[in-house]
Amino acid sequence: MVAFKKLEDLDVKGKRVLVRADLNVPIRDGKVTGLSRIVRGAETLRELSSRGARVVVCSHLGRPKGERNMEFTLQPVVEPLAEALGRPVAFADDCVGPVAEMVVNGLGEGDVALLENLRFHPEEEKNDPEFARKLATLADLYVNDAFSTSHRAHASTEYIAHLLPSAAGRLMQAELEALSAALRSPKRPVAAIVGGAKVSTKLELLGNLITHVDVLVIGGGMANTFLYAKGISVGNSLCEKEMADTARAIMEKAETEAGCRIILPMDAVVAREFREGAPSEIVPIRDVPEDSMILDVGPASVTRIEEALEPCHTIVWNGPLGAFEIPPFDAATVAAAKWVAERTKAGKFLTVAGGGDTVAAMAHAGVTGDLSYLSAAGGAFLEWLEGKTLPGVAALEG
Ligand code: AMP
Repeated sequence: MVAFKKLEDLDVKGKRVLVRADLNVPIRDGKVTGLSRIVRGAETLRELSSRGARVVVCSHLGRPKGERNMEFTLQPVVEPLAEALGRPVAFADDCVGPVAEMVVNGLGEGDVALLENLRFHPEEEKNDPEFARKLATLADLYVNDAFSTSHRAHASTEYIAHLLPSAAGRLMQAELEALSAALRSPKRPVAAIVGGAKVSTKLELLGNLITHVDVLVIGGGMANTFLYAKGISVGNSLCEKEMADTARAIMEKAETEAGCRIILPMDAVVAREFREGAPSEIVPIRDVPEDSMILDVGPASVTRIEEALEPCHTIVWNGPLGAFEIPPFDAATVAAAKWVAERTKAGKFLTVAGGGDTVAAMAHAGVTGDLSYLSAAGGAFLEWLEGKTLPGVAALEG
């Protein structure tokens, strides 16, 4: 477990505290259309404010590419953030320089200000020391609550942590504790379920997982590549034939060195077309017709997956088992998600799931609130599972 300071380790009363939040929310016509990041981010801000800190919030929004582009202004976030906090939020039209200084100097104890989009300055994404120093002059203490951007070494996530006494915010803390419990010091046996479209995007993930988990369930489009590598015909399915050697190497290493059991589909839901309501059938995995695509794992595979997971205590999940956006190809993902969620609620499993599509798949299955932790941080979650050091997290160590 990374040793990092938490909010309770900081004496914040009367101090200016710069909080790197993730307020990268969807905005349409100048209105915020999705509040979840604001609601989740408010916890740390509320706590700091109630402890008498002068709270200075900074975030990125979208990709303005280092230019002041008002399509990406954080101004629309002010009102919903104030509502979530139950107190007014001041806004500084720039995140550094005289405008920011004036707003921050005007804060009393417990007051909150939001700074304009960090990425209006190209130096932010370059982890520029001078830009980090300018940000640091606005505060006495630094709190990073943006796990979702901590896989990038940016001035507001990495360099600044070396300039000010630093701590993790509550969201960052929850994320690090959940991920550590699942992979760094898990209750064994541990299983990972990995699905999604392609092997090529999750190669490092698979390579790292086989050395950490006891059971690896492979589903989704990527399972086709593994089946193909075993000499099984997958018809017209999505399949990265050029990755067959890599898939074979992963299976061999899992078996011989890592002591990890790999579970591949034994049956499949196939169709000739990929559209809602297209005629589909369930076939044994060795009988996939040449003119059909595998679009979901079949019911016998779900039963086998459940049998393999049953003795486990910890489950890590990234990627859907099938093309879940289009029924009926959501059946296996929904069934397995419900089964895992039930056991998690009963205290039998600790379950950590994450990644953009996985959040959507869990919501589709109606189990969002029933897992131990559901991480919305796509890239950062994957890099953590790949075993990489996240610069924004490493900078908090000590
Ligand atoms: P990823 O972003 O790698 O997690 O991939 C998620 C996507 O994989 C989803 O949009 C699914 O529809 C897609 N997917 C899952 N299984 C299959 C499959 N058997 N064939 C084609 N696409 C799939």
